[in-house]
Amino acid sequence: MVNFGHTAAETFPLFDRLHLCLIKPSKYDDDGYVIRYWKGVLPSNTLACLYGLSEDVKNRGVLGNNLKWRIDAIDETVQRVDVEGIARLNRRKGTKTIVCLVGVQTNQFPRAADLALEFRRQGLDVLIGGFHVSGVISTLPEMPADLRALQEAGVTLVAGEIENRWEMILKDALNNSLMPLYNFLQESPDISRAPMPRIPKNLLNRYAVKHFATLDCGRGCPFQCTFCTVINVQGRQMRYRCVDSIAERIRENYRQHNVSYYFFTDDNFCRNKNWEPILDMLIRLREEESIPVSFMIQVDTQSHRIPGFIEKAARAGCSQVFIGMESINEENLKAAGKKQNRVTDFKNLVNAYHEAAISTHLAYIIGFPFDSEESVQRDIQNLQQLGADQVSFFMLTPLPGSMDYLQFLSKATLMDADLNNFDTFHETFRHQRMKPRVWTRCYEKAWKDFYSVENMKRILKNAKPQKYWDLFLNFIWYKNAIQVEEGHPMLHGFVRLKGRRERRRIYSLESRWVYFKRRVRDIWRTLIGWSKLALEMEEVWLQTRHRSSLEERVVLELEQYQKRIREWRKLRLPELRTLYRQAALALEKSSHRHFSSPLRIPSYFQLWLQKWNVFSDSLTFTRFPMRWYWRSVLRQLKQGHFHRIRLFKTAFTGFREFVLFARFLRALLKRVDYSVPNLE
Ligand code: SF4
Repeated sequence: MVNFGHTAAETFPLFDRLHLCLIKPSKYDDDGYVIRYWKGVLPSNTLACLYGLSEDVKNRGVLGNNLKWRIDAIDETVQRVDVEGIARLNRRKGTKTIVCLVGVQTNQFPRAADLALEFRRQGLDVLIGGFHVSGVISTLPEMPADLRALQEAGVTLVAGEIENRWEMILKDALNNSLMPLYNFLQESPDISRAPMPRIPKNLLNRYAVKHFATLDCGRGCPFQCTFCTVINVQGRQMRYRCVDSIAERIRENYRQHNVSYYFFTDDNFCRNKNWEPILDMLIRLREEESIPVSFMIQVDTQSHRIPGFIEKAARAGCSQVFIGMESINEENLKAAGKKQNRVTDFKNLVNAYHEAAISTHLAYIIGFPFDSEESVQRDIQNLQQLGADQVSFFMLTPLPGSMDYLQFLSKATLMDADLNNFDTFHETFRHQRMKPRVWTRCYEKAWKDFYSVENMKRILKNAKPQKYWDLFLNFIWYKNAIQVEEGHPMLHGFVRLKGRRERRRIYSLESRWVYFKRRVRDIWRTLIGWSKLALEMEEVWLQTRHRSSLEERVVLELEQYQKRIREWRKLRLPELRTLYRQAALALEKSSHRHFSSPLRIPSYFQLWLQKWNVFSDSLTFTRFPMRWYWRSVLRQLKQGHFHRIRLFKTAFTGFREFVLFARFLRALLKRVDYSVPNLE
């Protein structure tokens, strides 16, 4: 391994202040506005790596002890990039500002390029690194025109990983001698002793889960999937971080920021040679040092065959595995070079993790060569039968750096010229078996079907009790992204923010009035979306929450009646009430001896009290009767039959809705069940 690092401290007479601005760019939405949220969902590990590396250079003092540092980490998906403000800081005498656009993926490249040019216009040094630049340079014989244009504008491109090289680049910047390209792809650095990723506290607060951080324990992957960029960018040779350094960072994060939940971003954690020492270390942290660490990892479909892997992962605090299943069609898997995936194994794989109380989250790609509208629908049905807890769907995208991209180029297959669409939820080429828009329709339907009320109920009912709320909250996150934000859960957060001027240059700047109308429409649509989502999730909770033994018995009785009634969902309120009464009477008869209160109140009366007590959610297993009532009120209103609306009943139902929803919210926020006390 070549160490490019310079170790002797140098002085830079021109500058006594260094402002390092690390920016993870976002992308543009379909209207050209930058995607930004009040609360994000996934922190960027590359940003954390760069922050850790920069702090290390600063702490070692190799750029001179008199140099005053300021390091800002900005994730544009949750923070506005103030180009003017950053440029203003640079105007202070003796200040050097270096803007680093980090971890830029292909779909973020158009935004990164626009930001880079804006910063260049302000006279700042700009570097762009990440999977796009690395992927393009690793696969193409020549520099493409868009990257060349950036270089001509004075932007520096960085390909490959910068561990052991960051100090050298910063020195070049302070000497005003940055090169147009730093290409480290030929030699991946040894990361065993590299500085650990670190995310500043102020950035952590911008995500929905504050005690959550990312960390890469290793890089690279030995497999050769044709759609994947990891192998060309990080290599097939696995490299690892030192276990002690990982332990130290976890301890520090817990002590300083109360961070205890991790996403270990290794593309394939189970192929990390050190998986066992890492899991042993995590077990020690949990059991001997009382650090309640838990984590999610990415694994391959053969991981359940590794002796002891699942057991140790569960004991070490693994709560979820993200599995690259990609397809359940053998022909597709073969075409994608995913030889390690065997469809016949999938059920065993999911079951093995479930037995250890680890949730399974599958990655599934739609748009492989053998997919068609019918086959995708069939596959999604079969996918639900596997019993996985979550699935993330993606559209096949020929990302620069992947073998698919090279193949598309060699066959001169037409690809979308707009890199902003290479986000795995846009069609980027003409599929052989699915017409334009049909492919997107299949993709959208896959999300809708998997996250339908019925399937969520099935998953939650089968989940281990300790997993219930984790899954429930994940469903809210996913449904919010799919239904309300109409985007991908891995990108879209909570409460969309926009800036009138934060628009792609190929779109015109809207007038204040036009923009105001757009925002009113946006906010209205979001409010309606949230209301629907809240009621949908309340229904899921009502039907799946933990029940007291009394409730369980009533449900059993109701189910007996239900079997005899085919169209249960079409029952009207009086009919439902009769059913409840019948169930209660049957219950009274069948369990008379065991079902008496100390006050000797007849059991039917107790059930009746429970049912109509607005302060109790017991014996309410669905919102359906209330929904039906509101619909009838709406109908009467539309027909002008105001006299038919019963005021007391309307007020009572409204109050009951309110109480029920408040209980749902309380249960959700406190992650507890509000079951009625047992009456026996
Ligand atoms: S898709 Fe996953 S298993 Fe396949 S090469 Fe990429 S990281 Fe490895």
